[in-house]
Amino acid sequence: MEVIPGLWMIEGLGPCYLYRDADTYTLIDTGITGDATRILDQLEEAGGKPGQLKQIILTHSHPDHTGSHAELIERTEAQVLAHELDVPVIIGEAETEIPKVVPNAERKLMEMAIEETPIAKPARVDRALRDGDEIDMGAGAVAVHVPGHTPGSLAIFLPKEKLLFAGDAAERDLEENLVLGMFNLDQAQAIESFRKLAALDFEIACVGHGKPLDRDASLAFRRVAEKLADN
Ligand SMILES: [Zn+2]
Ligand SMILES: [Zn+2]
Repeated sequence: MEVIPGLWMIEGLGPCYLYRDADTYTLIDTGITGDATRILDQLEEAGGKPGQLKQIILTHSHPDHTGSHAELIERTEAQVLAHELDVPVIIGEAETEIPKVVPNAERKLMEMAIEETPIAKPARVDRALRDGDEIDMGAGAVAVHVPGHTPGSLAIFLPKEKLLFAGDAAERDLEENLVLGMFNLDQAQAIESFRKLAALDFEIACVGHGKPLDRDASLAFRRVAEKLADN
């Protein structure tokens, strides 16, 4: 599904996004294990070849976002970028931490998600990112550290394009409402990170799960952030 010209959403259990620059492409997240062919098919449909996939940015270490990372780096020459604090899990030096305390409403969903998501094969990361690091994408993208969901959760912000990739710091619930992401290791920190995103100026937001917000997105984030502040 083309979100805006040059940006495609690849739907699935772990949605991911393909972004086109002049003659290269960036992939944000990699779906679940087994999604590589689907992703490369979308790349081809978008007019690209595997050799043009310049980089893969992983928003965090969960297997619904890193699932096909190992296969994709075998089939392309893409460089892999992730926040330094999630790198140990992505490369297989640490295990995914499961939240000990989750709101009751999330418990069932979390158990289902864990059951449904195949394990991700660990693979290399080429560049460990920190908050504020620049990424070569569009007119210039910025890494925004949004810890809470995982320690190294990352959002990607393109200020010129007014485009945000929020990862699981934000998602849509079953009624399609924008909400704080679920299954957070540190809920208070996740709320703080959501507010950090709400303070940015963007029109379009691609969230961790559910359809992108295609206009007035930062306004929607601010509305949700205000409610979080009331809790
Ligand atoms: Zn996640
Ligand atoms: Zn997720």
